[in-house]
Amino acid sequence: MSESPQRERATGAFDVAVVGAGFAGLYMLYRLRGLGLSARLYEAGGGVGGTWFWNRYPGARCDVESMDYSYSFSDELQQEWKWTERYASQPEILAYIGHVADRFDLRRDIQLETRVTAAFFDEATTRWAIQTDRGDRVSARFCIMATGCLSDAQVPKLEGFETFEGKWYHTGHWPHEGVDFTGQRVGVIGTGSSAIQSIPLIARQAAHLFVFQRTPNFSVPARNAPLDPEYERQVKSSYAEFRRQARESRVGFVVERNDQSALEVSSEERQRAYESRWSRGGLGFNATFADLLTSKEANDTAAEFFRAKIQAIVRDAAVAEMLSPRDYPVGTKRLCVDTDYYDTFNRDNVTLVDVRRAPIEAITRHGLRTREAEYELDSLVFATGFDAMTGALLGIDIRGRAGATLREKWAAGPRTYLGVATAGFPNLFTITGPGSPSVLSNMIVSIEQHVDWIADCLVYLRERGLGGIEASVDAEDEWVAHVNEVGHATLYPLANSWYMGANVPGKPRIFMPYVGGVGAYRQKCDDVAAKGYEGFALIA
Ligand code: FAD
Ligand code: NAP
Repeated sequence: MSESPQRERATGAFDVAVVGAGFAGLYMLYRLRGLGLSARLYEAGGGVGGTWFWNRYPGARCDVESMDYSYSFSDELQQEWKWTERYASQPEILAYIGHVADRFDLRRDIQLETRVTAAFFDEATTRWAIQTDRGDRVSARFCIMATGCLSDAQVPKLEGFETFEGKWYHTGHWPHEGVDFTGQRVGVIGTGSSAIQSIPLIARQAAHLFVFQRTPNFSVPARNAPLDPEYERQVKSSYAEFRRQARESRVGFVVERNDQSALEVSSEERQRAYESRWSRGGLGFNATFADLLTSKEANDTAAEFFRAKIQAIVRDAAVAEMLSPRDYPVGTKRLCVDTDYYDTFNRDNVTLVDVRRAPIEAITRHGLRTREAEYELDSLVFATGFDAMTGALLGIDIRGRAGATLREKWAAGPRTYLGVATAGFPNLFTITGPGSPSVLSNMIVSIEQHVDWIADCLVYLRERGLGGIEASVDAEDEWVAHVNEVGHATLYPLANSWYMGANVPGKPRIFMPYVGGVGAYRQKCDDVAAKGYEGFALIA
C-alpha cells in the first residue's frame, strides 16, 4: 500500500473534481466510478483518511460504536472487516479506510499532497476551473467538496507564540511518528473531546501536565472494551436491517430512546435512568429523556447528575468544582466520551489551570503566562479545535456566477439549500455541508446519504441531457429559515460552541448544523429529488 503522492501535474478535463480524501471523498469517488464518470480527487494530506489521517494524538478514538461507524455501501466489506473494540481507535479506522481505498482500487484517481486553492465557475461553459497549490489547472463539470466539517485546525493567535523554544503540537496535525513526553513538563490548552481523550494518556507519560481550561465539559465514560463476538455476529447476520434503522434514526445510530420527560418521573427514577446510561457509557446518555435538549429545566437535572459524578470522582473539591460545567446545558457543546478523564485530576503530576478566570496572556520562551502565573513547559499541545463546518470550504477561493465569492456570500453565516448546494454556485456540492445534520450524527451515515443523493442527481441530469443544477434563492432562504427555526427550538444556541461558530474569533454566531434528525432530513432530500429536484433550477 503506497502512500507516495502522484506528483504529475494535471491539466485535463474531468466530469467531476472531488476535494478531500476522507470517508466522504472516497465514497464519492467510488460512486462516480460506478457511474462511469471521470473524476479526479485532490487531497491536501499525504494519505487518505481525512480526520483519521490527521488526528493521531494519543487516545484518538471514535465515540460512535465501530459496528455503526463504518460504510454500509458494500455488504462484502461490512461482512469481511473485523473491528476489535467497541469503539475503534484512530489507527484501526485509518487501516480500515486504507483497506477501502485498496479494495475498491480508488487510489489511482487520488492526487495526494495537493491542496485545492481555487474553484471558479465559468458560466459560458457551465464548468468549474480548479487550481491547486501544485500548479494543477483542471476543469470539471461538477465540483464536489468533501473537505470535512472538522478539518481546519485552529491554533489561537497568542502573543509571543513564535518565541516559544519548546515543541508544540495541534491534536489535529499530530506527528506520524508519535510524541514521547517522558520526563517533560507538558501543557495542554483546551478541554474539548480531543483534549479529554489525550489528557489521561499524556498524564501517564509526562513528568508534569498542566491543563489550561477555559470551559469545562460534560464527559461520559466510554466503557470501551473488546468487541463482543456475539454482538458482532448478531449485527452481521442482520446488517441490512441494522443499517436501515440507523438511516431512519435521529442521529445515525440506534440508541434506546425514552419518550418521557425528565420532569415527569420521580427523582429516584430519574437518578436510576442516568446511572444506567452512565454505566452503559457513550453518547446514548443524551437520549436518557426526550426533552434533555429542549427543556432547560429537564437538562438541569442531567447537569446536576454530571456534577455529582465529577465531585464523587475528583478528590480535591476545588478541582472538582473547576471541572464542573455550570454555564451551558449538557449536550449543547458536543458531549465528550472519555476513559479515565476526571480521575486523571487525582494524579499528583496533573494541575488544572482555570484560564477563564485568569486568561492566557502570552506564550513565552519557556512556557506560558496567564494573568496570574507563569508556567514552564517543554511541550505545548493545542487541543483547540477547528474552524468547523465552514473553515475548509472558505479556505478555498470559490467563485460562482458573475465571479461572486462564497466568502462574501457567507460573510454573515453559511447559506445553503439542504446543506448540499448553495444558490449562485451551480454544479457545486458540499458533502455534509452546513445546514445538514452532519456533525450532529454518526457522520458515516450522513456522508453516505449525501453521496448517494448527489450520485442520483448526476444520473438524473445525465439521463435528461442536462448540463447542470443550481439551488434557487427562494428554496435556500426557506431552508435557512427552517434550519434556524428548528435549531432555536432547542437549547443548542445557549452554548458558546463550535456548532455556533463561537470558538473562532469574529465568526458569525449561527447554529450551523440541521437538528431536524437524520431520518426526517433524508426523507426531505428524497422528496426533493422525487419532485424533479424541487427548489433547484435545472440548466440545459
Ligand atoms: P474529513 O475526514 O475531514 O476529510 C476531509 C479531507 O479534505 C481532509 O483530509 C483534508 O485534508 C481535505 N481537504 C480540506 N480542504 C482541502 C483542500 N482545499 N484541498 C485538498 N484537500 C482538502 N464523527 C463521528 O460521527 N463519530 C466520531 O466518533 C467522530 N470522531 C471524531 C474525532 C475527531 C478527532 C475528529 C476531528 C472528528 C471526529 N468525527 C467523528 C467527525 C469526522 O470528521 C467524521 O466522522 C468523518 O471522518 C468526516 O469525513 P469527511 O470525509 O467528511 O471529512
Ligand atoms: P473543541 O471541542 O472545539 O475544543 C477546543 C477546546 O479548546 C475547548 O475547550 C476550547 O475552550 C479550548 N480553546 C480554544 N481556543 C482557546 C484559547 N484561545 N484559549 C483557551 N482555550 C481555548 O475541539 P476538539 O476537542 O478538537 O473537538 C472538536 C470536535 O471533533 C468534537 O466536538 C467532536 O465532534 C470531534 N471529536 C470527536 C472525538 C471523539 O471522541 N470521537 C474526539 C475529538 C474530536 P472553549 O470551550 O472555551 O471554547
